[in-house]
Amino acid sequence: MNFRVPSSFQSKLPDVGTTIFTLMSKMALDYGAINLSQGFPDFQVSEELLSLVNQHMRKGHNQYAPMQGVMALRERISEKIFTAYQKEKSPETEITVTSGGTEAIFAAVSAMLHPGDEAIILEPSYDCYAPAVTLAGGIPIYVSLHPENFSVNWQAVEEKISEKTRLIFINSPHNPSGSVLTWHDLEELARITRDRSIVIISDEVYENIIFDNLSHQSVLCHDELATRSVAVFSFGKTFHTTGWKVGYFVAPDWLTHEIRKVHQYVQFSVHTPSQFALADYLADRHHYENLSSFYQKKRDLFLNLMQDSPLRPVTSHGTYFQLFSYKEISTMTDRSLAEYLTKEVGVASIPISVFYHDKQDNHYLRFCFAKNDETLQKASEILRDASFLKQTI
Ligand code: GLN
Repeated sequence: MNFRVPSSFQSKLPDVGTTIFTLMSKMALDYGAINLSQGFPDFQVSEELLSLVNQHMRKGHNQYAPMQGVMALRERISEKIFTAYQKEKSPETEITVTSGGTEAIFAAVSAMLHPGDEAIILEPSYDCYAPAVTLAGGIPIYVSLHPENFSVNWQAVEEKISEKTRLIFINSPHNPSGSVLTWHDLEELARITRDRSIVIISDEVYENIIFDNLSHQSVLCHDELATRSVAVFSFGKTFHTTGWKVGYFVAPDWLTHEIRKVHQYVQFSVHTPSQFALADYLADRHHYENLSSFYQKKRDLFLNLMQDSPLRPVTSHGTYFQLFSYKEISTMTDRSLAEYLTKEVGVASIPISVFYHDKQDNHYLRFCFAKNDETLQKASEILRDASFLKQTI
């Protein structure tokens, strides 16, 4: 973009550009590539859910919803939490509907951080955490996950905790790596944050997409952590409606009270007919309880199809993303390879270096497999052909 910034203006986010998701999706469109970059399904939403939205629009549910979210939806969310985690959460004081997980995270960070406070971020990390911290005047403190299996070194996290630490972000199932946290991880987190004024922001938007009989370890299940955590969820991932931007957060009453103060001025309230429709739809748990097996089939299909590709997978245990390493076959930077694959080969992916503050490049690409089987077939046919990589060595 060509514009002139007045010399008197000082950017609050000088190092931030347009998100990689926006860039790669546009590049995929411009070059006609199969888009496995930005995470969104390419299949249709349930007819029943679509017609529920329409019915609620016709019933007249078209004006502002309550700031906290439509009560019927908050009640259904509370039931869903009870079914999944056997924990009672109050729709009145502990559950708030937001414009997607991103808004919940932004509101939580803005409500919690004072200038100079520190927030620990585990990298690679989803791209909205650090800018929210910086905008609040906070200081992101980074700790790297293990570069091969993306597990957390809690001792390294503990070493970064200071008197100024106010927030720690966790994310499971993890975007972009597909790794998942265990109960032991939550125990470690509880131990290192005990008796300190630290709040956990737990990004659990892929809670219903977890594989290989693993079960999602929510902070809500951990009674000690739950007293100081904000758990963030998203209907976009669960019901294939990423464009609706409806999510929610669950937090103890004192945290909810503070975060709602921000939510009410950033968003005020969320699309009303969608909330009523989601409330009806959520009442039947069959609508989401088979999601893991649905996506596990896609992951397995994609991994099988990619078996003869020169790219090496780090098997995803959750989310709808699969990482592949190319470090044994090319020294190209991951950004250049992702661009090359999109423009010249015909498949768009996400380079992982963008999820590190120092842009460290461990030669991984992320592919989204929330796609029709035919899309995955076509993409892997292209990627199996090793010849494209020869030119990049
Ligand atoms: N969560 C999506 C992903 O990881 C991206 C959403 C967005 O484009 N902001 O691909």
